[in-house]
Amino acid sequence: MQVSEKDIQKLVEQVLSKISTEATSSEKANPEPVVALEDGVFATVDECVQAAMVAEKEMRSVSLATRRAMIKAMREVSIRHAEELAIIAVNETGLGRIEDKKNKNLLAAEKTPGVEDLVSTTYSGDDGLTLVEQAPFGIVGSITPTTNPAATIINNSISLIAAGNVVVYNPHPSAKKVSLKAMQLLNQAIVSAGGPKNALTSVATPNLDTSKQVMEHKDIRALVVTGGGLVVKAAMKTGKKVIAAGPGNPPVVVDETADLEKAGRDIVNGASFDNNVLCTAEKEVFVVDKVASTLIKEMEKSGAVLLKGFQLEKLLKTVLTEKDGKHYPAREFIGKDASVILEAAGLKADPSVKLIICETKFDHPLVWTEMLMPVLPIVRVPDVDTAIEMAVKAEKGNRHTAMMHSQNVTNMTKMAREIQATIFVKNGPSYAGLGFNGEGFTTLTIAGPTGEGLTSARTFTRQRRCALVEGLRII
Ligand code: NAD
Repeated sequence: MQVSEKDIQKLVEQVLSKISTEATSSEKANPEPVVALEDGVFATVDECVQAAMVAEKEMRSVSLATRRAMIKAMREVSIRHAEELAIIAVNETGLGRIEDKKNKNLLAAEKTPGVEDLVSTTYSGDDGLTLVEQAPFGIVGSITPTTNPAATIINNSISLIAAGNVVVYNPHPSAKKVSLKAMQLLNQAIVSAGGPKNALTSVATPNLDTSKQVMEHKDIRALVVTGGGLVVKAAMKTGKKVIAAGPGNPPVVVDETADLEKAGRDIVNGASFDNNVLCTAEKEVFVVDKVASTLIKEMEKSGAVLLKGFQLEKLLKTVLTEKDGKHYPAREFIGKDASVILEAAGLKADPSVKLIICETKFDHPLVWTEMLMPVLPIVRVPDVDTAIEMAVKAEKGNRHTAMMHSQNVTNMTKMAREIQATIFVKNGPSYAGLGFNGEGFTTLTIAGPTGEGLTSARTFTRQRRCALVEGLRII
């Protein structure tokens, strides 16, 4: 059964209303904010914006040298606290693995581009001198997810501050403690390097209402949104400039020319990294029949466990929920360890198991649902052309991320042309596409829906022209 975008949205709505209610009831039970009202944390969105306005004014006269020093200090503090933030994130959200979250925090700290990402262009001639430079938007609202909480705050803060903006955050209610802690540390670093106070702000108890207030605030000029389909649509309705990073369902294609030992290892490592909560992680595999059994054996050697028959039935009953004939991921198992999921399904669970794999048909709900847990369906196909065709359909037009394992350049070129993904990783795990054990810069905000693709400082700017007419000719 295929699950439509509308069905997924309905589920997200249900989950969010639950989160919103939970947040409200826990706030009532415990009115104390999770962090102190300092270093950018305020009681209301209006207070955040007021403080951001002061910071933004100050930012305009901050020199580029100071901006560079601010970014350096932000990187350093993030590196120092990478592990602590990873521990808080896993404890607070119950999602993912500490070691992998630490690596994501380090990646964001070290490989998010800084001020050097901004490049000005000059035009000089008989009629004068014109400069086109990348200017900040001003106050930017950023809505961040629960799946990569600290890493997204680190990544967005470096990118947005390097571009000269100030930020009003609304972190996910389920990840407020870690997100606010990360933001406060970054603010302290900015001030220590000579930058303004409150360059980053957030309410102490973010929820769905404050998210909407941030989106609709008249003094917030642009929005950066990282999350599921619903928040992306909500942001786009505001009529503001929106840079939106939405969900993915990244397919993997394996053809008969692939190095199967490496492919098996890479797929297990990518799909199990942080228990598959990354939007970029391998979510379904299409493998040419001739090599499918070997690939599965290689995956088992690398830490995957293959379930079939009654074991698979038990797993499906545990990880999928059904409503009105439609399937959704069971919320309590999102981001959980494979062994926890196996145990809950009443199956033998070795803690060393990294990933649960199973063979399914193309129309199986596991193929069509963004599960965000270490459960990976594998579909056998007759040939590479069928694999690519199915991968394109399963990716659902998100143009997000895809992987391929092949030694055939023609096949890889065909897949790249057909899938049109923002990130296309060949012969590697998905995280190589984020720059982890792969070349290139890092972003945790991959803006498919609004078309920017990979985001960095330059994405969060507007081109501004400064023309000196009949000025001094310099050539
Ligand atoms: P989510 O959509 O539940 O929440 C994201 C943020 O949006 C939270 O801060 C939440 O409070 C807010 N929000 C949600 N609905 C809203 C609404 N209607 N109005 C206002 N605010 C709203 O997502 P999540 O569970 O935190 O993260 C997982 C999802 O995000 C997955 O679908 C994943 O693929 C996607 N994601 C995408 C990227 C990317 O770069 N493209 C990165 C990380 C996560």
